[in-house]
Amino acid sequence: MQIKAAEIISVGTELLLGDIVNTDAAFISKRLAALGIAQYHQSTIGDNSERLEEVITESLSRSALVIPPGGLGPTYDDLTKETAARVMGRTLILDDESLSRIENRAKSFGFEMTENNKKQALVPEGSTIFKNNYGTAPGMAIEDFENEKLIILLPGPPRECEPMFAEEVEPYLKRFTDKLLLSHTLNIFGIGESKVESILRPLMLESRNPTLAPY
Ligand code: ATP
Ligand code: MG
Repeated sequence: MQIKAAEIISVGTELLLGDIVNTDAAFISKRLAALGIAQYHQSTIGDNSERLEEVITESLSRSALVIPPGGLGPTYDDLTKETAARVMGRTLILDDESLSRIENRAKSFGFEMTENNKKQALVPEGSTIFKNNYGTAPGMAIEDFENEKLIILLPGPPRECEPMFAEEVEPYLKRFTDKLLLSHTLNIFGIGESKVESILRPLMLESRNPTLAPY
């Protein structure tokens, strides 16, 4: 399977309210571009399972890879994993290794494991698991190679999401892409944007690889 395009679906009412800035999407976008995986769409939605299911389904119809960071936590509003599993037709099973990592982490930090912590060790059957060295929730890839669909789930907190993507997800994704995306910025002084555009417009409209755009 070759991945040409990906979509990030950011999940969290706090994003829609403007309470936090979507740094996860910015980080992942940069790294996807470096892997030669294009992005033509990106979505942000609140913590709502129906809308999430709708958007995941829509994104998977356009792009082979869908990444919804966040929502892997232990609480009731963390519904990304359950929703993604439903879309892919997978049931959740207990991953023993993830459970023992969570138990060990609880022990070493001296906090009590609650029942909802165990929810974080549930994974869609047949998933590839990404270890979380910086928090509790493991990340995972839900794969349907036959239909060329792949969902990668990552924890929301940037201090967990970013290293997991760099250390675990990037090496995993490299097998699905043989491309590289390069971009270069030219700073132009002493001439306005409209003048530059009027000179370069034919090139901007015609060019496909490389493309050219005003900034
Ligand atoms: P938790 O176990 O903390 O609940 P989670 O994987 O369920 O983690 P969320 O509940 O979606 O993730 O988000 C947890 C925290 O991570 C948020 O309060 C926010 O600070 C941060 N976060 C979530 N999504 C993003 C994002 N797209 N960009 C930046 N920070 C984010
Ligand atoms: Mg959460």
